[in-house]
Amino acid sequence: MAFESLAEKLQGAFNQLRGKGKLNEKDVKDAMREVKLALLEADVNFKVVKDFINTLTERAIGESVLQSLTPGQQVIKLVNEELTNLMGKTQSKIDFGSKPPTVILMAGLQGAGKTTTCGKLGSILKKQGKRPLLVACDVYRPAAIQQLKVVGEKVDVPVFEQGNEKSPVDIAKAGLAHAIHFNNDVVIIDTAGRLHIDENLMQELIQIKDAVTPNEILLVLDSMTGQDAVNVAEHFNSQLEISGVILTKLDGDTRGGAALSVRAVTGKPIKYACIGEKLTDIEEFYPDRMASRILG
Ligand code: GDP
Repeated sequence: MAFESLAEKLQGAFNQLRGKGKLNEKDVKDAMREVKLALLEADVNFKVVKDFINTLTERAIGESVLQSLTPGQQVIKLVNEELTNLMGKTQSKIDFGSKPPTVILMAGLQGAGKTTTCGKLGSILKKQGKRPLLVACDVYRPAAIQQLKVVGEKVDVPVFEQGNEKSPVDIAKAGLAHAIHFNNDVVIIDTAGRLHIDENLMQELIQIKDAVTPNEILLVLDSMTGQDAVNVAEHFNSQLEISGVILTKLDGDTRGGAALSVRAVTGKPIKYACIGEKLTDIEEFYPDRMASRILG
């Protein structure tokens, strides 16, 4: 299960405190050292950990923790609050804009779960009463178009495709025109990924962005890839100015680094979490719930 090892190590740090009555500064600092190690082992970005621990230590020593009769509980509460802050405080919703159709550009590396996530997002939005359209702009990966069609069929969301001979920019524009014509109020554009960051791919995404001016550019990130996911996010954000992140594969045994670092590193919110291969395995991302899950 995701975060298992992190949760266990944090519990270890808190148990040290629970056994004691009143705490002194050294007790707090020792516990914070344990929390720091746990986060680093969970593959959280080093700078993020450093800032996090500084804030936490300051709060723990400054607030009433040291006077408290249940200092262990107080520290857990603070860690919970700061983990929530780290992941963005509140839930961040899709910006639908003022005039339909809302355009959502999906980006990410190959295998991150983009195509699957297009279907999941289409399905969720449909349940919310929207009329989404999926647009197949991954013209490079064999079978990507077919995969999107299968996914669309399963969730009963239409898919617009023009084969793999036209340019993705033209397909995106045609998809948008199709949506306007057929009264689809959300357009979800599936794009090509590569195994690694690739400048041609980035240029193509920028061209699609310029052509369809998306309301949202959502980066699909595989949380199993930890710090790499965060590096990918930084790069995509600097080139493309993403509006949010969808974390996939949080059902796996991810150590948690991506979930805990990506907001702090990019400044962009995690909007959804995907927790399995099934097309219903997607949830809105609530930082407070995730923090509670991590703390066990
Ligand atoms: P793309 O190359 O980015 O379009 O990625 P795909 O949508 O083809 O997904 C790659 C693989 O990851 C597929 O086998 C998906 O079933 C799987 N996958 C996607 N999202 C999740 C998830 O949240 N959890 C798990 N366990 N697998 C996922």
